[in-house]
Amino acid sequence: MKLDDKGLLIVLSGPSGVGKGTVRDALFKMPGHDLVYSISMTTRKPRGGEVDGREYYFVSRDEFESAIKNGKMLEYTEFVGNYYGTPLDKVNDLIDEGKEVLLEIEVNGAMQVREKMKDAIFIFVAPPSMDALKARLIKRGTESQELINERITKAEREIGLANLYDYIVVNDEVNNAADKILAIIRAEHAKTNRTIDRYKEMLEVK
Ligand code: 5GP
Repeated sequence: MKLDDKGLLIVLSGPSGVGKGTVRDALFKMPGHDLVYSISMTTRKPRGGEVDGREYYFVSRDEFESAIKNGKMLEYTEFVGNYYGTPLDKVNDLIDEGKEVLLEIEVNGAMQVREKMKDAIFIFVAPPSMDALKARLIKRGTESQELINERITKAEREIGLANLYDYIVVNDEVNNAADKILAIIRAEHAKTNRTIDRYKEMLEVK
């Protein structure tokens, strides 16, 4: 169901291990939105089960650096030794088509988007507690202790930047968090600055 003519750019951030991916999956399964996920590019190696072109576009450092040089990235960052970034092509087209484009990116990249896309909506997914986050990172068991520690340090720093976002959604329970995000999207569609032009047209007709 299309909620409005013009699309939205929604930026979702949160520390690694907070469950953004699971919240995103739950969100996409809910009715009443026109969400499209923007697939990021990364130089990180695929984790078990990850597919090129689905979770990420997995590329080499050379490929990533040439995309940066050719102005093909909306934003990018280096995170725990790897590049991550949003390919620019598609994002604008999708918004013009009326889609709600969801970026799932870390804080650094989000702030670059903030500079470039004034109309974007910034949502921070927070863990119920720091202990819950640590437990999740360890349980995932896909990385060495050293990398886990690095991600924990990074997570602590990221949580400190939650105040830069428009909304904070605590991931206490996945469906609850997804539901709150959907409510935010609905409310954003109804914002005066997004709808006032329609009213102007109506007034002119009278
Ligand atoms: P992971 O390696 O766990 O998939 O991702 C590590 C971090 O990179 C996560 O916080 C994730 O949100 C972030 N990330 C994924 N894609 C992008 C992107 O395109 N740009 C930026 N800036 N961060 C990204």
